[in-house]
Amino acid sequence: MKHGFLSVLGVLIVLASSSWAQSSPLASPEKIQGIYARLLPQIERIPIFDHHAHPGFPDDPDVDAMASPPGSAPLRERDSNPELVAAAKALFNYPYDDLSGEHAKWLVNKKAQLKKEQGTAYFSNLLDKLDIEQGVANRAMMADYLDPKRFVWVFFADAFMWPFDNQKERARNGDEAVYIPLQEKMLHRWMEQEKVKQLPAGFDDYLKFITQTLEDNQKKGGIAMKFEVAYFRSLRFGDPSREPVEAIYRKYISGGVPSEPEYRTFQDFVFRYLIREGGRLHLPVHIHSAVGVGDYFNISESNVMNLENILRDPRYADTVFVLIHGGYPLEREAIWLAAVKNVYMDSSLMEVVMYPAAFKDSLRQWLETFPDKITFGTDSFPYNDALGAEESYWLGVQTGRTGLAAALAEMVATGEVSEAKALEMAQAYLHDTAVSIYPGKVH
Ligand SMILES: [Zn+2]
Repeated sequence: MKHGFLSVLGVLIVLASSSWAQSSPLASPEKIQGIYARLLPQIERIPIFDHHAHPGFPDDPDVDAMASPPGSAPLRERDSNPELVAAAKALFNYPYDDLSGEHAKWLVNKKAQLKKEQGTAYFSNLLDKLDIEQGVANRAMMADYLDPKRFVWVFFADAFMWPFDNQKERARNGDEAVYIPLQEKMLHRWMEQEKVKQLPAGFDDYLKFITQTLEDNQKKGGIAMKFEVAYFRSLRFGDPSREPVEAIYRKYISGGVPSEPEYRTFQDFVFRYLIREGGRLHLPVHIHSAVGVGDYFNISESNVMNLENILRDPRYADTVFVLIHGGYPLEREAIWLAAVKNVYMDSSLMEVVMYPAAFKDSLRQWLETFPDKITFGTDSFPYNDALGAEESYWLGVQTGRTGLAAALAEMVATGEVSEAKALEMAQAYLHDTAVSIYPGKVH
């Protein structure tokens, strides 16, 4: 009896003394503001590793392995976004308050002048301004104007899935008419690189050609392979056996147009081959997992959840997957995929499409779920004259840092984490977690 009573008393004392640790659903705006004001300057001092971007000048065709046909840009990505004036002021001391006519021309000229003066330092200087220590350059090929000390290459691996006569693929719609020829071009560049004049007649040799390209790209400094396959077909990958796929390859490699089911079956197999090789070679796999630009991008077929059978397949346990753009706008579901040991999230694009107020809410849910599996990226890209790679770096970094500070301030204010823990989470998200994926290759 006595013993029991003491135990109950003990529990009560523990509960009472730890009642500070119970989180509450509400916090006063003043309290959140105060914490935000303390956290933001500390978060601004954390050097960033940018996990996903396409640095480059607008006239550089190697910025991407595909081109965006004119689609409808969401509000924040339009050249009418007034935030772009703030970006131009911060980055180039832009003297005007709007981007109209002659004023916009000042900016174009200023960038051209700096590019000429600074050469390979132009983009490095930009990273310095934003305190990005190192960043991914997800590009068809690396540019000689990007300093390899600051930019690490992530190459595209989609083209191996389109080796046949693609007339049916191109004819599907206006977007594919633009994309598929660029995939053919990319495949030819890999062939040139590997000194392969003609694709081999045997399927085994084709797979060897793929592996050789991956290995050579890795030797050239490639730290990961990227798929933007959602732009070209469904993210639902079947699991065909080798025999029918080999038969499809032998039938069509020297001519003839495969039916859509035949092409998809072949691609299902090659995709799985590529990601398995990614595990063997320690070459992480980046997959575009969000909505996309263009007039025909199929949002339901590109749904990040369609990848679940791949991500949870124990055969690919050695492959590190990075879900680029975090499955947006399904980022709240997608974060649960990061429960898988080898799956990581990237928030790029989310901070450019969403304004900080909305991004803060998404990031908070991520921080409250798998804070050790989320990484920051800008998705910097030369969209247009007003929203160049420069301005999109700025938008991504500003939204990332302020959204992060706001999300963490709310979490501290409601008693979910301490301020010290919040800063640890910030360091992990902005830098450490992504860097840990590429040991010895980035810092
Ligand atoms: Zn991108």
